[in-house]
Amino acid sequence: MATVKRYSILCPKCNHKFPIFAALHNTIDVDEWIKEKADNHDCKAYADQLAKERAPRPVNPLKASKKGK
Ligand SMILES: [Zn+2]
Repeated sequence: MATVKRYSILCPKCNHKFPIFAALHNTIDVDEWIKEKADNHDCKAYADQLAKERAPRPVNPLKASKKGK
């Protein structure tokens, strides 16, 4: 039985590395599999996800203006 491993895949389109957890059967060509995953990367969804994670907490404009006084 195959064990689940973490594969770090570099997408050639958006140049991001993204992890995929998978249990690959040993008859699978891992290089081919990784290439296929990279080709099928949803770059836009990934970029959106990254943007969300990196976005600073929204600042309440009312509070910010009061504090500045
Ligand atoms: Zn991508």
